Amino acid sequence: MPEWPEIANLARQMQAVLPGRTIAGVTVRQSRCLNLPEPEFIAAVLGAQVLAVAPRGKWLQIQTTQGWLLISLGMGGEVLLTPPAALPEKTRLHFDLDDGASLMVNFWWFGYVHYVQTLAEHTMTARLGVDALALGPADLTAAFAGKRFRLKAFLLDQARIAGIGNFYVHDILFQARLHPLRQVNTLTGVEVEALVQAIHQRLAYSLSLGGAAYEVDLYGGKGHFEMTELLVGYREGQPCPECATPVEKIKTGSTSSFVCPRCQPLIPESR
Ligand SMILES: [Zn+2]
Repeated sequence: MPEWPEIANLARQMQAVLPGRTIAGVTVRQSRCLNLPEPEFIAAVLGAQVLAVAPRGKWLQIQTTQGWLLISLGMGGEVLLTPPAALPEKTRLHFDLDDGASLMVNFWWFGYVHYVQTLAEHTMTARLGVDALALGPADLTAAFAGKRFRLKAFLLDQARIAGIGNFYVHDILFQARLHPLRQVNTLTGVEVEALVQAIHQRLAYSLSLGGAAYEVDLYGGKGHFEMTELLVGYREGQPCPECATPVEKIKTGSTSSFVCPRCQPLIPESR
């Protein structure tokens, strides 16, 4: 499932080549990924020239001369820029660009390709929390104040922080030396700063490698963030990179988490 690094990598690649290009045709193969009836969607985007592409949490935001295209790959998928002859058989939708290339969107399971005239109309992205990379300590301190929430669940809640998912969260918590089940209102100022730094560093590091190796980029290339780049995530039984204690897999609500029990102790709650 793509998280912020993979979406940011796609957005960066799209921003490098799409601005100035115009949508000259649209083929929809799965109309339920749209937010409008298919004819309305096609009429809205035909002739639109791309102005800019940016990530927003796990969404791609494409600004055009006729409004916004918003893409979510859901549990996974691809956005590929290809010659029409190289279009994969399985696509949910593709745009024909005025220079002859095709921009194709596919979902492994289910995703969205939405059109809105203004971003404020798009409730799914309008209710997202601050982007993980734009997050500062003051945002988190304010968000944590007085709240009874487990830290990992809080980090994964896209309405609070947008862009972090279950792949990178284990290493973010490990780098910040925080247990996933900590209550957010018990974090000290120093811990909040360490957490913000860990969020920025882990996500930016993966982006610097082109994102996770199990996802593909705009040209079908794989990212270079291999599983071996992970610190404790998905490394049950292997030595902690800091203290060599075996990494443990623990239940955290409905999800599993990977922690070093020595580096990330669960501090007893005072209340
Ligand atoms: Zn350790």
